[in-house]
Amino acid sequence: GGICVEDLLHGLNEAQREAVTTTEGFVRVIAGAGSGKTRALSRRFAYLVNEIGILPGNILCVTFTNKSAGEMRQRIHNLTGDNDTGYINTFHGFCVSVLQEDSHAVQYPKSFLVLDNSDIDAMLKIIYEERGLTLRNMTFGKARDMIELRKTFTEKDYYLDMIPMSLAALKQKYDDAVSASDIIFYGYLYQERKCFGLDYNDLINFSLYIFRQNEDIRLKWQKRLEYIMIDEFQDIDALQYQLMEVLCGHHKNLFIVGDPDQTIYTWRGADVRYLLDFDKAFPQAKTILMMQNYRSTPQILSVANSLIGRNRSRIKKDLLPTLPAGAPVVCHHADTAQAEAAWIAEQIGALTARGAACREITILYRAHYITRTLEEVFIKEKIPYVIYSGIQFFGRMEIKDALSYLRMAAYQDDLSFLRIANTPRRNLGQRRIEFLQEYAAQNQCSLYTALRRTIDHDVFKGTKAAQFISLVESFSSGQEGRPISEVLSAILNESGYEKMLRTEGSQERLDNLAELKQSVYEYETSCGEECTMEHYLAHVALFSNGDAADIRDKVKLMTVHAAKGLEFPYVFLCGMNEGIFPSRKTNSLEGMEEERRLAFVAMTRAEKALYLSGAGGRNFDGSPRYPSRFLLDIDPALLSFTKPPREGLIAEARDYIALSSRWLKEDAQRQPLAVGQRVKHSIFGCGVVVDVDAAKAAHIVQFDKIGTPRAISFRAKLDKC
Ligand code: ATP
Ligand code: MG
Repeated sequence: GGICVEDLLHGLNEAQREAVTTTEGFVRVIAGAGSGKTRALSRRFAYLVNEIGILPGNILCVTFTNKSAGEMRQRIHNLTGDNDTGYINTFHGFCVSVLQEDSHAVQYPKSFLVLDNSDIDAMLKIIYEERGLTLRNMTFGKARDMIELRKTFTEKDYYLDMIPMSLAALKQKYDDAVSASDIIFYGYLYQERKCFGLDYNDLINFSLYIFRQNEDIRLKWQKRLEYIMIDEFQDIDALQYQLMEVLCGHHKNLFIVGDPDQTIYTWRGADVRYLLDFDKAFPQAKTILMMQNYRSTPQILSVANSLIGRNRSRIKKDLLPTLPAGAPVVCHHADTAQAEAAWIAEQIGALTARGAACREITILYRAHYITRTLEEVFIKEKIPYVIYSGIQFFGRMEIKDALSYLRMAAYQDDLSFLRIANTPRRNLGQRRIEFLQEYAAQNQCSLYTALRRTIDHDVFKGTKAAQFISLVESFSSGQEGRPISEVLSAILNESGYEKMLRTEGSQERLDNLAELKQSVYEYETSCGEECTMEHYLAHVALFSNGDAADIRDKVKLMTVHAAKGLEFPYVFLCGMNEGIFPSRKTNSLEGMEEERRLAFVAMTRAEKALYLSGAGGRNFDGSPRYPSRFLLDIDPALLSFTKPPREGLIAEARDYIALSSRWLKEDAQRQPLAVGQRVKHSIFGCGVVVDVDAAKAAHIVQFDKIGTPRAISFRAKLDKC
């Protein structure tokens, strides 16, 4: 049974009530973190259903992640008592519903396949093999980006024109393609179509296409979706915006909420201007502001305000506390990453001793590789934890591969053999492995022994099996006494494994390997006499056999991006170092402001207590590690330092930050190229600058091989030629 209107409006302030009860027309809520936007949005859903009598199936409620969609569904179910919760989904999830109903309009079956990155890579592999391309032509990562770019940011209708093409026509385009990027692009469209596959981008593009081409279908959906509500509107991108415009075109009841200070997806095409200019796009729109924060203590809010106040391109607004004073925000600078992790474990111990549950504690970080040190300490200290949105460190592909190489050197076991014999590619594919398996079964030996004995067989002609054997041989003997960290580095180098990752452009995987080497090194310096390879392998096996994640009373670990919209009683924001957070990939002033917004999102997740930590020591490349500029941004009077930083450290860090900011500024002020300049782009090839769009910070380039001119951001590299 439903809840009455008093209950629905209970626990809402004046602005929230207005947001809930203003059901008709265009409504925009702009408000800070923790001000009750999402609460208002879900109450509004219940209000529409319980008070106005709208069927849940006539409401579309868009969230940013699947996780928040799930939570919202639960909340709506509790509020309305109805099992039918309507369309509560991400944009992509909603498009799946549209296509399941109407994909016949593009001659796709209901049982189309939604493709993920590994599916896309498998298709790329086929294309590369068919057309003799190598990763030197384009890495898979770049190819995926290029495909996305050609599907998204090109002339609006360019990709949509390909949607109705027949399989034969796509095949023809693929066969006719000459440049690597055309071959890959059309080859991919052909492969996709062959299996009725749709990637994430297609889900939205195909839905848009169907709505544009079929008035009946468009009207059906427009009429069905009487009310549309969108959370986290600051991160909407151009395609999603177009979709929204179409969907609200009939009833014109659109409710959006967002916070410009929490825009963290511009790198993926999000544009905060859709939120800021909403009143220009829909002049009849009503805007509601919410000022109070209900989530965090005043201490946490002052720190967050102090940080975000450093951003230049923003509309000033402070988060006003409603909760009573709490604990001060703690800041800890450890000597090493291990010491930082140990400190966090110690604080967790203190919290749980005072009655906090592990599940109330969340650790946030900028990048996945940070978890390794934490995981090691947590396992040692028996702190239960679960990693969200990411694979546990020792379960990651490249870590397993690297350890398999070590195990291959130590044991030559079949599991390791199967994992790495053909990684990187040595032409030891399925057929040859089957040959070895047969031989090994008949002769009761390991696969590796089988390979050694049959190496002269014809079947291994044209393979790199012999090199593989000499690699394993050279590492399986005469290595006693050599530090394991050295063996690991050497084997990753000589096997070509690292080179493979470099050519694939897998920087994150390389970072993880660097982190693994660091962990081996630490193991060696701490274990004294018994530091053999076998010992080490047994030691790490403990880490890699982690149980499948479950969410009972455990400390949560996740990236800041994954924590968007969520809240936790106790938050540790760790790895607050230059080069980690802000990420060392940050290469523009706007990028730096986005990093700062990301740090702001992280801090504003905390309800009762916030701990900020970083570590000294060195980076992968040997440079000294400095405290994050985001710590230095905060008024020190607002922080409780565990101990005074080393003499001179802050001054050194400031020098370093000033220097790197100067580089960013020089980059930003780089003069645009002159109109008429011939240029070369890594994906689109040669062309000529026909215009400069200063507002968009982009060159408009007419490429030789592409019909319409394209806008290319100043940030992208255009070589003069
Ligand atoms: P974010 O920008 O981080 O997504 P938000 O604006 O969506 O934040 P909510 O998650 O809706 O904020 O609310 C933050 C917290 O405050 C929640 O725990 C919510 O239950 C609580 N809250 C919201 N409104 C009120 C209110 N009027 N009175 C008391 N508590 C409230
Ligand atoms: Mg929210």
